[in-house]
Amino acid sequence: MNNQHPDASASTRKENSEALSEQEVMMLLEEVTDPEIPVLNVVEMGIVRRVEKSGQEAGFRVVITPTYSGCPAMNAIEQAILEKMMEKGIRPVDVVTDHREPWTTDWMTSEAKRKLKEYGIAPPPPTGDDSDFLSTLKSSQKIVPCPFCDSLETELRSEFGSTACKSLYYCHGCSQPFEHFKCI
Ligand SMILES: [Zn+2]
Repeated sequence: MNNQHPDASASTRKENSEALSEQEVMMLLEEVTDPEIPVLNVVEMGIVRRVEKSGQEAGFRVVITPTYSGCPAMNAIEQAILEKMMEKGIRPVDVVTDHREPWTTDWMTSEAKRKLKEYGIAPPPPTGDDSDFLSTLKSSQKIVPCPFCDSLETELRSEFGSTACKSLYYCHGCSQPFEHFKCI
C-alpha cells in the first residue's frame, strides 16, 4: 500500500524555489535570448518587466511586455522563458503579458542598443518629448541611418525583413542591405 503523501515531491521543489530571490530569477532570465535578435537577452531588451513571487507554491510570475504588438516572436519568448525556468528547476512559473504600457526603447539598456547596432540592425529611435515628431516622421518618410556607415541615404525595400518585426532597408552609402528593428 502506498502511503506516501502526495505533496512530498511538491515540498521538495518548494525548497528549491524558496532559496531564490526575484533578483536571482531575473539573472537567470538573462540567459534567455530574444528569438528575433539572438545577441540580446530578454532582460536587456526590456521585455521582462519584473519578476514577482506568484504566491502559489513559492513559484514566480514573470511579467513581459512585447516589443511590437502582434509580434509572432512573443510566443517563442514565453516558451523560451518557461523552458529556462524548467531547466533551472524553478516552478511553477507563470508568464504574464502586460499590455498596459507599450514597450518603449527607453527600456532597452544602452548596452543592448549598442549590440543591436553591432549585429547590423539599426536601433529603434529614442522616444520622449519628440515622440509626436517621430511618429509623424515614421508615418511619412522615416529616415533610418545605416548601422554600418551611419549614412542617411537609405531606402525602405520591404516592410518585412526576415521576420515580421523587422523591415528591410538598403544603404546607398555602403551598398549593403540591413534590417531595421521596427517597434511601437
Ligand atoms: Zn551604409
